Amino acid sequence: MAKLLSVQNVSKIFGNEGLRKKDVTVAVDDVTFSIADDRPTITAIAGESGSGKTTLALLLMGQIPPNSGTVSYRGKDLAHMTRDEKTILTRELQPIYQDPYAAYNPFYRVDHVLQMPIKRFGLAKTKEESRLLIEDAMEKVGLRPAETLGRYPHQLSGGQKQRLMVARALLCQPKVVMADEPVSMVDASLRATILSSLRKLNQDFGISILYITHDLTTAYQICENILIMYAGSVVEAGSVDQVIRNPKHPYTQLLVSSIPLPDKNKRWGGVEFEEIQLRKSSGCKFAPRCPAAMHECWSQRPAFYLPDEGRTVACFLYKDQPTLDSSDVSQIFPT
Ligand code: SF4
Repeated sequence: MAKLLSVQNVSKIFGNEGLRKKDVTVAVDDVTFSIADDRPTITAIAGESGSGKTTLALLLMGQIPPNSGTVSYRGKDLAHMTRDEKTILTRELQPIYQDPYAAYNPFYRVDHVLQMPIKRFGLAKTKEESRLLIEDAMEKVGLRPAETLGRYPHQLSGGQKQRLMVARALLCQPKVVMADEPVSMVDASLRATILSSLRKLNQDFGISILYITHDLTTAYQICENILIMYAGSVVEAGSVDQVIRNPKHPYTQLLVSSIPLPDKNKRWGGVEFEEIQLRKSSGCKFAPRCPAAMHECWSQRPAFYLPDEGRTVACFLYKDQPTLDSSDVSQIFPT
């Protein structure tokens, strides 16, 4: 598989490594995966707060350097890119952040956020060309230019602001859009519109989407593949259908069981885990929370096992199954 964007054995540690261990947080721990160059995909990176998913997104965008391992774009290590290569990377990897309000300066009309990338990347030669590009991008995400341009941020709804962010990403003709919790701050009624804008970027414009989320429901709605992260490590990866419909890792089972159910007689989170034990594990990080923890779990790290086709799980419960032949979990994604 030709790789567009990849991380190879990447780790990120916050805090001073020279300090005592308790002052150090391993936010991302030896993660390897990639997204394909030859086919646009939508991949979710999911986990609860503190799982390392947003740090992994920042590493992939080149916004923070790893402590070890490499992040590559089109086979080139980000750490060794020239200035011109970094400019191309910045244009081709576009972020859409969680907070649509933070991206706007209240003193500028919203047109400003669309004009900036045009100027920065030299996307238009004339004002007229710039206007046409902006209007075209807005219409592609379902916004009417006449009703939106010329307004100040406070005059637009949260959903309009977030869709403008999608239009801004589209203007840059990106290869990858990194969407970090893009619907967590908009109303439920607008969620579907924004998710369908992301799907449109993928299907109509051939853009790969990395969808960073704690919400398995929206991941299930739009993604094809999913990586589940826990404490900085990938614990399960595969097709979203397999992983969410039939989770194998005890942590994924916990996440899936916590999805709110539309049944007023049923409690949220049908399965509850035993009280968290305080015992530290030098093996599987989930052992202190895991009801299935075995003796070996406390001292050894599980490999990536293959309990079925198109999915891998880092858990000793599947130790009788074959293992992945490398730590690259994306090798099991459909090609
Ligand atoms: Fe639980 Fe052991 Fe599997 Fe970790 S490896 S999730 S502790 S059963």
